[in-house]
Order: sequence, then C-alpha cells, then structure tokens
Amino acid sequence: MNTPRCPDCGVTMESTAVRSSDGFGLTINTGKRSGLLGKLGVGSTTKLEGACCPGCGLVRLYADLEE
Ligand SMILES: [Zn+2]
Repeated sequence: MNTPRCPDCGVTMESTAVRSSDGFGLTINTGKRSGLLGKLGVGSTTKLEGACCPGCGLVRLYADLEE
C-alpha cells in the first residue's frame, strides 16, 4: 500500500499492524456476497492495515482492497 502522510503534521506515516487485544487482525465487512456463504447471508470481510503518525500519534486504517 502507499505510505500516507499525516493530514495534521505532513510527515510520512509508518505502516503498522492493527490487532485486537486477543491478537486477531482487524477486518471490516465489505458487503460483497457470493457463492454458498452469500446464500447463507454471510458477507465477505477484508483485512485492515494501520498507519501511525510518529509526530502526533494519529492512526488511520486502510482496507486491503481487492483489484
Ligand atoms: Zn501527525
């Protein structure tokens, strides 16, 4: 993923892994539905990657988007 800049400081943000306290990576529901799981009403999820500003500590989350 491209390295983003902090909107407040303008410095390059550092990519970081985002996890719950249980150690699981964070995901979001993309709303896509296909195949058997879609028929069962289960949506797809995609991973989240984090970017942290070393200046002010701002953290942004980016979805790992598919092409
Ligand atoms: Zn900042």
